[in-house]
Amino acid sequence: MQVDLTALKKLVFTADPQTSLRMSRHLAALVAIMLLTLASIYFSYRGMLKTGDIGLLDINLMFWAGLLLITFAIRSGISRNFPDPSMTMTQMIWCSLYILVLIYLLNEWRSIALMPFFAILSFGYFRLDFREFLAVTVFIVIGYLVVIFYIELNDADRIELDRELIQLLGFALTCMVMVYTGSAVSKLRVGFKERNEQLADALKLNTRLATTDDLTGLYTRRYLMNMLSNQKALSEREDTDFVILFADLDHFKHINDSFGHYIGDTVLKNFADIIRTSIREIDYGSRFGGEEFVVLLVNTDIEQSKAVAERIRSGIENYNFNDIAPGLHVTVSIGMANYKQYKSIQETLMTADNRMYKAKDQGRNKIVFE
Ligand code: GH3
Ligand code: MG
Ligand code: MG
Repeated sequence: MQVDLTALKKLVFTADPQTSLRMSRHLAALVAIMLLTLASIYFSYRGMLKTGDIGLLDINLMFWAGLLLITFAIRSGISRNFPDPSMTMTQMIWCSLYILVLIYLLNEWRSIALMPFFAILSFGYFRLDFREFLAVTVFIVIGYLVVIFYIELNDADRIELDRELIQLLGFALTCMVMVYTGSAVSKLRVGFKERNEQLADALKLNTRLATTDDLTGLYTRRYLMNMLSNQKALSEREDTDFVILFADLDHFKHINDSFGHYIGDTVLKNFADIIRTSIREIDYGSRFGGEEFVVLLVNTDIEQSKAVAERIRSGIENYNFNDIAPGLHVTVSIGMANYKQYKSIQETLMTADNRMYKAKDQGRNKIVFE
């Protein structure tokens, strides 16, 4: 027989992965507690429980009503507003209460109800820190003490106090070991989380460094090469053209030598700003190396690109550096080539580069496109 789990999955999991994780843990707890409820019914059926003042059915109904309230709080997302959205402590305390009531009801088989406490404590491994772990453990041990003394005072022939106390001591010591291992796991968990966050930050930084030039904020050569192959694919699919513009600042070595590297860097930054404001959003401006820049103008041809190149050329020529370096004038030589004519990125780049050198030969501060 095929069991269809999709309905159950839909009931448990949501679009929010955090809520889904909480729900899957909560569901595991519900299944475990269901077994306990069945056990309590079995105890009752076998006559192992105290009869009289409280009915097992009432207890089970009340307990499950509380559990379903927790289910609702987690599944609906209401618990996201709580200090602990997974409600781990709440679930642990509520289940412990249930077991304490069973312990009260059980006669000579009382100690068997201690076992589920270990299962409850094990849920703390996912979430609790040392103090919370200790708090739950103390709650359970004191709860047990209260229950056995209550029975001793009101119903002494149902209990052998000496035996119970020795049992409780063993139980408490075992719990303390669990508190220790639990908090060690908790520390590991926190460490993992921190390391994951650091890794995510490092990855972000790495991506930024690989795609963005630190000094100018333009794209890196590596990123530009990727975008060029994208454009090549696009241009072949949609029969469009793109233009590569190769720009090299004139006599930049001389600028560095005369005004210093700091001014040289400032020139590079200002030139990058000029590129940015001269191109469209969809174009890519990159620092190819040193004082060389490559601009990718997409979905256009040489004719339309001349205006962009001219904006860049005249932009830097007319830029006023008087504030930072009186007497400084900067010019650029630009070579341009369009992809469609060469059908190869390497060829197009090389042609643009050669034309840039031609512009240098013709006296610099020029644009060459043929
Ligand atoms: P040309 O007109 O022929 O291009 O002459 P040029 O001096 O610009 O050419 P060359 O390639 O000889 O010099 C480039 C200089 O750019 C040399 C290098 O020190 C400088 N440079 C490269 N990267 C940087 C940088 O990041 N900051 C600064 N300030 N200078 C840089
Ligand atoms: Mg150069
Ligand atoms: Mg140069």
